Amino acid sequence: MIITPKTRGFICTTAHPIGCAKNVENQIHAVKAKGAYKGPKHVLVIGASTGYGLASRIAATFGAGAKTIGVFFEKPSEGGRTASPGWYNTAAFETLAHQEGYYAKSINGDAFSKEIKKQTMALIKQDLGSVDLVIYSLASPRRVHPDTGEVFSSCLKPIHQPFIGKSVDPLRREIKDVHLDPATEEDVLNTVQVMGGEDWAMWMDALASEDLLAEGVISMAYDYIGPELTHAIYKNGTIGKAKDHLYKTAMELNKTLEKYHGQAFLSVNKALVTQASAAIPVVPLYISILYKIMKEAGTQEGCIEQLARLLKDKIYSGKPIELDPAGRIRMDDYEMESGVQQKIKALWPKVTTENLATLTDIDGYCKEFYQLFGFEVPGIDYGMDVSVDVKIPSLSLRQFPRE
Ligand code: NAD
Repeated sequence: MIITPKTRGFICTTAHPIGCAKNVENQIHAVKAKGAYKGPKHVLVIGASTGYGLASRIAATFGAGAKTIGVFFEKPSEGGRTASPGWYNTAAFETLAHQEGYYAKSINGDAFSKEIKKQTMALIKQDLGSVDLVIYSLASPRRVHPDTGEVFSSCLKPIHQPFIGKSVDPLRREIKDVHLDPATEEDVLNTVQVMGGEDWAMWMDALASEDLLAEGVISMAYDYIGPELTHAIYKNGTIGKAKDHLYKTAMELNKTLEKYHGQAFLSVNKALVTQASAAIPVVPLYISILYKIMKEAGTQEGCIEQLARLLKDKIYSGKPIELDPAGRIRMDDYEMESGVQQKIKALWPKVTTENLATLTDIDGYCKEFYQLFGFEVPGIDYGMDVSVDVKIPSLSLRQFPRE
């Protein structure tokens, strides 16, 4: 079938398997171009199919030759409908990893659940024995609590005061005003339940109790801080409270991992177009301006450049890991450079619908947005008839290991 993008709000409901595969291939090339490094051997990535998690998996595999198990929640194709992009990404990733002789297996299901943790533990036990890097890169709108069955939905709201400001509808290319009412206490609690660190800690507890953590194990989750312009909605909003909890969890995990001589931390990453960030008010406009400035400065990075640099130059460089005073790795260094931020601040009030294309990189934003779903990828013939039914090798073959 011929697949075209169909958008609804800030998501695209179709995905192109060949375009997604090409994206993965491009990311693999970027990692190889950066060069091999002595890194982790057995890696578990939770949230491994898109964005930062997928880039983590690719950088660990094709940079350090690591064996990876990836956990994610994606939809296969059904009734002629396309699969989700993360499904196609993983199908391509596994195929290319296997072709080069790398171990790569995946688990598709709700990472918050006990069942998926159980399946993952059994697979690690059977195939790897232990893991020396655990990356927690989930971005989810909801969580069913594994103990109580209670359903929590996260939200992106300011706290204490309403937010009135501007944002962009990138696909319509329109500047619009946003007005967001402040979060209730319940909104904050719910968002912390979904995007905070409780589930990360549950994963680490499960791995520790099954004796699956290797000596020197590293575990990390991803954070975002950003500039003042986005603080009301991000750092000081509901999502920021969840990230505070994630930070607290990292500090606690650090103590737990002492007995393995291991470490847990947050890596503060750069703002990038992903399915998760597209949903945050204000952020798409900020990213559109940021991309313009960083491309002009020659410092623009995508998920894969961030992850290749994080793993090769920061964590596995052979030198002590450089942390900020709060104990976090800073991968937002180029984004937060004062020259970059000053230019963004100066442009921000001037941007209107009319000058959007010249003052910002809205074209780059939109292109990357469509590329997340496998569209607008150079070198792909979109008039081509393609099959939507693509298998993820390890999922179509695997018998779940017995406990
Ligand atoms: P993303 O939407 O691209 O990826 C989310 C991943 O989580 C996917 O693999 C998805 O399948 C998986 N997932 C979601 N719900 C799941 C569930 N219930 N069970 C199993 N898997 C599930 O998101 P992203 O932007 O790469 O975000 C990953 C992390 O990076 C988040 O913590 C985010 O806050 C952080 N981060 C993002 C940015 C950014 O600009 N995008 C910047 C800094 C930090």
